[in-house]
Amino acid sequence: MKTNEDKDFNYWIEKGKEMVAERRQRIARAKKWKFDTVATHGLYDLNQALTWNNGSIMEPAYLTPAQAYLNSAEMEVALSYQMPNWCYSRIANPSSFFLEEASALLETYGSDIQGTCLATASGISAIRTATDPFLVKDGNFPKPNIVSSAKVYGGTFQQFRVRRHIEQGIEVRWVKEPENLGEWASMIDENTRFVYGEFPSNPSVAIFDISEVAKLAHENGIPLIVDSTCASPVLTRPLTLGADIVVHSASKVISGSGTSIIGFVISKMNITSKIGTDEMKEDFAAWAKFWPFRDNGPALHSMAAILTLNDMRTLRMRMEQMSNSTLALARYLEKHPKIDRVHYPGLESYPAYNLAKKYMKLVDSGENMFGFMLAVEIKEDTPGASTNTRKFYDALQLAWRAADLGRVKTVATLNAISTHQQQGEEGRALAAVKPNTCRIACGVEHVDDIIDDIEQALRKV
Ligand SMILES: *Cc1c(COP(=O)(O)O)cnc(C)c1O
Repeated sequence: MKTNEDKDFNYWIEKGKEMVAERRQRIARAKKWKFDTVATHGLYDLNQALTWNNGSIMEPAYLTPAQAYLNSAEMEVALSYQMPNWCYSRIANPSSFFLEEASALLETYGSDIQGTCLATASGISAIRTATDPFLVKDGNFPKPNIVSSAKVYGGTFQQFRVRRHIEQGIEVRWVKEPENLGEWASMIDENTRFVYGEFPSNPSVAIFDISEVAKLAHENGIPLIVDSTCASPVLTRPLTLGADIVVHSASKVISGSGTSIIGFVISKMNITSKIGTDEMKEDFAAWAKFWPFRDNGPALHSMAAILTLNDMRTLRMRMEQMSNSTLALARYLEKHPKIDRVHYPGLESYPAYNLAKKYMKLVDSGENMFGFMLAVEIKEDTPGASTNTRKFYDALQLAWRAADLGRVKTVATLNAISTHQQQGEEGRALAAVKPNTCRIACGVEHVDDIIDDIEQALRKV
């Protein structure tokens, strides 16, 4: 038996190797499970519970900021990142680990891909954390540019346009029709640092061919980063289709009960990039956590990690019900005389319907499902008006008027005056947000009640 004094530098190095090997076994076991099982258990098992957590069957919330070490040797090995540890809650935290491990498995589900997840304080900080490392100074590529779909979340548009372009001078090249591969191709040049798209986009539900855009990016030596908040790993897993990094606003459907603001950066091993060190490319999310994330500080609270983990266990079931309800609502609205147009990937009238059918399938069933979000344009008497739209909107009784989506409760949003207000008319035109656009995100209420509410509100127009 070793005494504490005998536990020297080499002891902790060996201990670290054992911990890594044991974790690998847990990953291998979880890779054989179905989606719901992975979502429910992640890497947390009886051995973990008994060894570290007093037998707690649920993953505990570690509210403490710091980890204690047995002796100086352990501290030295741990803080040089030579053994798994968490150290300080701005860098890592056991509760975040539980969540990150489960979400990396879900995002790579159904493939041999090994994923790494970094959980952040918000979706928008996940986007910042995922893109920053590609925009550093590099004398070989002096004039960095970003090629991004114009159909992105309003906050992303602002981060790219104001923070990146206006404040930092980075050129942002907007792809107006993300379904059009040629448009992406025409914008990439040797100074492009990464390609960015949303699948499907919020709120216009636009999609793009993930595999083809990934191919294009890789031919140019750069990564494809996909915001897959609105598909969630239940419907689409971009890493398995060729993307290098996935970001999520886990504030949305992943934590659908609405308790947390939280984001994910999930990467696969050995991403493509002209910029950065080999260490960065090998395991991007782990590298980001140890270095820039630590130094920039967008850490999440451990309570948010546990609340999100608890919701994530039921993600597939919620997505299934919400997708079925949204399709029924979309079909109902498409026939309604007071509606101009319904945008929903599950409708035959959707321009990229075939692409949606190819990429959006309920995990473990294969059945096409298209998510919880649709955008509807209310008929107006004059172009550019929003009179009828506001009448309809203000009459909603069950659906909440809020700038939110992916919730267990149905939420409706007028994007031109909320999420996309600050980007101005030109920016809204790029994102296909009109004054009469209303985004509806179906919750898990009974579909009849959702449709009844929409129907009574349309009667007020
Ligand atoms: C909400 C949202 C974000 C931003 O996430 P936060 O968690 O609110 O910071 C990013 N992308 C999409 C698609 C979103 O809907």
